[in-house]
Amino acid sequence: MSKPRIIVIGGGAAGLMAAGQAAENGADTLLLEKQKKTGQKLGITGKGRCNLTNTAQISDFIAHFGKTGPFMRQAFARFFSTDLAEFFEKQGLKLVTERGGRVFPASGRAADVLSVFMQWLKQCSVTIKRDSPVDKLLINNKRVCGVISRGRAFTCDAVILATGGASYPATGSTGDGYRLARSAGHSLVPVRPALVPLETKGDIAQKMAGLNLRNIRVRMYINRKKRTRAFGELVFTEFGVSGPVILTLSGEAVDALGSGHGIVLSIDLKPALDEKKLDMRILRDFQTRGKEPFKSFLRGLLPREMVPVCMDLTGISPERMVSSISAVERRGLRTWLKDFRLEVTGHRPLAEAIVTAGGIDTREIDPRTMESRICRGLYIAGELLDIQADTGGYNLQAAFSTGHLAGRCAASESRRRKPENTLATDSRR
Ligand SMILES: Cc1cc2nc3c(=O)[nH]c(=O)nc-3n(C[C@H](O)[C@H](O)[C@H](O)COP(=O)(O)OP(=O)(O)OC[C@H]3O[C@@H](n4cnc5c(N)ncnc54)[C@H](O)[C@@H]3O)c2cc1C
Repeated sequence: MSKPRIIVIGGGAAGLMAAGQAAENGADTLLLEKQKKTGQKLGITGKGRCNLTNTAQISDFIAHFGKTGPFMRQAFARFFSTDLAEFFEKQGLKLVTERGGRVFPASGRAADVLSVFMQWLKQCSVTIKRDSPVDKLLINNKRVCGVISRGRAFTCDAVILATGGASYPATGSTGDGYRLARSAGHSLVPVRPALVPLETKGDIAQKMAGLNLRNIRVRMYINRKKRTRAFGELVFTEFGVSGPVILTLSGEAVDALGSGHGIVLSIDLKPALDEKKLDMRILRDFQTRGKEPFKSFLRGLLPREMVPVCMDLTGISPERMVSSISAVERRGLRTWLKDFRLEVTGHRPLAEAIVTAGGIDTREIDPRTMESRICRGLYIAGELLDIQADTGGYNLQAAFSTGHLAGRCAASESRRRKPENTLATDSRR
């Protein structure tokens, strides 16, 4: 019996993994990549270091996917972070685990992750055609039988669609897969940015642009009601706020903004001290440093860029001697340190989001195989699906796990169905 032919569309994290798996499972595999290079987004992940997975246990891991988590259970059961680590180490790539269970290549180079895939795909004899955007799926009687790229038809037994989301379009993820999947009858959960920086009112953030705050806590209020909290690192930017804490809160913020709700961020600059302890510390410092002007006193409490902002917002003049500051003013300072507020006016566009929320409705995909329930022989993997997670390596693991499952199942199912498939005949590759 001849080998089944599989076409993988998209050479990102999901597509590279899917192609290698399909080939290892006996398929004649062709990977069509739109860009001149494969894995461009993979190359910029984790600020060029590639946070490829996380060591969290499976239930915790799934919790990072929110409502989209249960769909991922079967893909993770078959290929999880430990399997991924084993895969890379077998290919000679050493890994390291950092704070928060985040796993990186020990070399600190995302390019090394890509090299592993290139070497592996070569060993498995996957044919890669770059600069080959797929424009159309060929579908016959609710079954995919090929694709068209640059006017040329390629026939096959199964197609794995792994074209990614629609963020960072310069990397090739321009949302083509949404149109292709819709042409096969799939529906789309509205696409929107996730893990995206937020814009804030006025020029407060702008005045501190570039300042990075570590170990702070942010509470998000939606329509004045206290909602999610996050702890960690925040960065002020020209337009508002970014950094891991903000990215974590951003998914909920984007949805709330979309529904016209008001959002306020309350930043606790001293989360290790409760109000009473902080008050005592300020009081003690006031007593020992009474002869200093307020502005120099603040330097012991805050980074330099925050000092003018604090003086502005607490209304205490910079030249005032600390000894002249009243108890009411001191309490005002304490409150500001525990509850520095920024009003959110918007979010940055989808093009600047780390991940695309929404995508192909997972109810239309079999989670045991990643095959479409609507179009036979069509498999969908990666960020194109309506799956999205927090930062920490979860999104790449999702792309690798769904790609792995799609590749393996597409190969084995195509082999099983081969006699009944009469369309897999000529291809001009
Ligand atoms: C700046 C940044 C940093 C990130 N850092 C991390 C991190 O450290 N850890 C983490 O877990 N996640 C991270 N992510 C998210 C992660 O990169 C994505 O979730 C993941 O790459 C999705 O993989 P994918 O294969 O589904 O899609 P992609 O990686 O987007 O790959 C899709 C591929 O399909 C190709 N393609 C598109 N249309 C067509 C077409 N019509 N024909 C042929 N090919 C096509 C594209 O050119 C692209 O190569 C980061 C994202 C960004 C933007």
